[in-house]
Amino acid sequence: MNNKRSWLIPLGMWTVFEIVAVTLWLAKDNLFYLLNFSYIGTSIALGLFLFQRNYKHARRIVQLLVGSYMLLYLGLICRENMQIEGFWYYLFTGVFEAATIHYAVAKIFGPLLFGRGWCGYACWTAMVLDFLPYKVPQSPRKKIGFIRYISFAAALVFMASLFLSHVGNIEQIMFWAFIIGNVLYYAVGIILAFAFKDNRAFCKYICPITVFLKPMSYFALLRVKCDKEKCVSCGKCKRVCPMDVDVTDNSRKRENGTECILCMECVKACPKKAL
Ligand code: SF4
Ligand code: SF4
Ligand code: SF4
Repeated sequence: MNNKRSWLIPLGMWTVFEIVAVTLWLAKDNLFYLLNFSYIGTSIALGLFLFQRNYKHARRIVQLLVGSYMLLYLGLICRENMQIEGFWYYLFTGVFEAATIHYAVAKIFGPLLFGRGWCGYACWTAMVLDFLPYKVPQSPRKKIGFIRYISFAAALVFMASLFLSHVGNIEQIMFWAFIIGNVLYYAVGIILAFAFKDNRAFCKYICPITVFLKPMSYFALLRVKCDKEKCVSCGKCKRVCPMDVDVTDNSRKRENGTECILCMECVKACPKKAL
């Protein structure tokens, strides 16, 4: 990788985030958005730069920088519920603030551009799950993905009933919902990872956010593609994929195509540099 190119992609990504940061800062007259999106954009740009320099922990560094910032600073210190309940909460109240903006950028419209980059580089649930021992799934995929729709509906019903019952102190409830929700996600995620020998089992079957992420990432601009001229069908890319994607198929209907988290493990493993 020449020096010029190794700067170009990180700089491009950093610029996209800066445009969002400055636009929201000026539109909302709130310096928080400038600092928030600048921090996230700089972390991602740093990760991309390190990846291009073949640093093997590049993705983990971004995950830790962004994931812990969102969980510890935004969630626990600023008390912003960034779980799916928080999204419904701010949507119901008609407030276009941090949680709704976060969902719009990272999970609803952003995936049209960068697919499920959120899942590979920023999610604080996966940040912990990725430390577990089953980085590559050691059991076949289960047909229980319908559970994601149940957890999605449960979060919606929970928030709707809070609003309809006009409970007081809803901000406090949202804060505790964030803590309890995260503890539950981690507990279920860790148990499933060991039960199915698959770190990303929670992402595949339970996570309610995939109800947004999967259909939007189907149209993603940024995708891993296979150069058929170079590919020798050795199958290494599929064997290292944490999400069971058939990345050698370039069609949008590739097997588990909407599961790709852009982790680039397949790219690193390909002996022919076909990806
Ligand atoms: S699927 Fe859900 S838990 Fe998994 S990385 Fe994506 S947002 Fe996080
Ligand atoms: S290994 Fe490749 S196909 Fe699989 S999730 Fe990572 S980037 Fe996507
Ligand atoms: S690892 Fe590379 S060469 Fe092997 S099947 Fe995948 S794309 Fe083809």
